[in-house]
Amino acid sequence: MWETSAIVAVGDEVLTGEVLNTNGAFIGQALLAAGSRVTRQILVPDDEQAIRDTLLQAWESVDLVVMVGGLGPTPDDRTRNGVAAALGVEMAVDAELEARVRARHSSHPGSEDSIRRQSLVLDTAMVLPNNVGTAPGQLLIRQEKAVALLPGPPWECRDVADSLMKEVERRTGRRIVRATWRCYGMAESEFAHHLGDLLTSPALRAGVYVRPGVVELRLEAALGDDAEKTRELLARAGALARARVPLPLYDDAVPITPKRLIEALALRGETLSLAESLTGGMLAAELTAIAGASSVVLDGQVVYTDEAKVRLGIDPRLLQTAGAVSEPVARSLAELSRLRAGATWGLGLTGYAGPSGGTKSDPVGTYYCAVAGPSGTVVHRRRTRSGREVVRLAAAETARFLLARELVTGPNLDSEDDR
Ligand code: ATP
Ligand code: MG
Repeated sequence: MWETSAIVAVGDEVLTGEVLNTNGAFIGQALLAAGSRVTRQILVPDDEQAIRDTLLQAWESVDLVVMVGGLGPTPDDRTRNGVAAALGVEMAVDAELEARVRARHSSHPGSEDSIRRQSLVLDTAMVLPNNVGTAPGQLLIRQEKAVALLPGPPWECRDVADSLMKEVERRTGRRIVRATWRCYGMAESEFAHHLGDLLTSPALRAGVYVRPGVVELRLEAALGDDAEKTRELLARAGALARARVPLPLYDDAVPITPKRLIEALALRGETLSLAESLTGGMLAAELTAIAGASSVVLDGQVVYTDEAKVRLGIDPRLLQTAGAVSEPVARSLAELSRLRAGATWGLGLTGYAGPSGGTKSDPVGTYYCAVAGPSGTVVHRRRTRSGREVVRLAAAETARFLLARELVTGPNLDSEDDR
């Protein structure tokens, strides 16, 4: 049951692109994890007729329709009315809900109307509690199918989605598991070429995704009654991918996301410090956005000019001879940063983001990432042919990867160059 689903994001501001549909992205991932495959995502304006028509259409082809947004108190919030019209159900004020909404609601001119609107529940719908805002979600089940209504503010959407997903998981009776293998330093088309028929294997859903600095193989399988067998299938596919791709593949055990990296370092009681030229503090910003970063990130410097690099302690002669974008400068940035801060790890990033700059041997898009640690320093040189934004993102990704890999596999003192 509920094996297929559609997500409908309601809102003029989402439709025009003023607000990014991050709720759709979040719900898409959550539904997948709960065992329901999303077959379409639709954007509609704050318009009752459009909401009604879209729901009726989606209802024809999927088991579960998740509508998000337009549950608030103002007259432009029309989702409830659109759903009521589509399914021909009444709405009524739920007294218990009204008391709860009132308790969270401030008193002001018009507040009674606002409270009443947000306490309207579709006939027979289950109320999905909202622990961080006023408008709750609703889940209306009709025979084998269902429509869920979630609030638009992202933190409220996530809170309400939690209880919806428990229900989805219960109905689908399965979870979809996903395994990711990452490869650093290979083009997407070459990666896909090596993987070959693994990408069209009927037993698994496989895809190649490219992000700045990394290509990923993602494999998905439904975890049903025989969970053990499914996990084995994924592991076998991963081993096959490893055998076919001539560069190393890294699985989810390597904590490369900012969150996982901070958590891994905190767990080990280790610290880090950064000296960023190319990325101008972006990597420090990514890492310090994570709760708990204060026990891990000791220092971060934006050493953008040669003068700033010299102030950190880089030898001016080295800048002269090797150039600011070079293996030895990246290495020194990491080592000096580590030393100065007294950190376990030091990260150094330098490169040509473009559009101008670069040399014959190190053209625009070339970057060096260095990680200095207790057993020495590793430096990787990479090049991307995309624009400035991608070069910077790729460098931050590569630096996180190099550090994460040190944590998992121990010292990798080979310096790698993809020239
Ligand atoms: P409210 O009670 O705040 O009116 P609501 O359920 O009516 O909640 P909306 O009015 O549609 O939701 O949106 C509220 C806010 O949530 C918007 O200003 C927007 O910033 C954000 N938002 C709405 N839809 C999305 C979406 N699909 N993805 C991300 N953010 C969204
Ligand atoms: Mg609203």
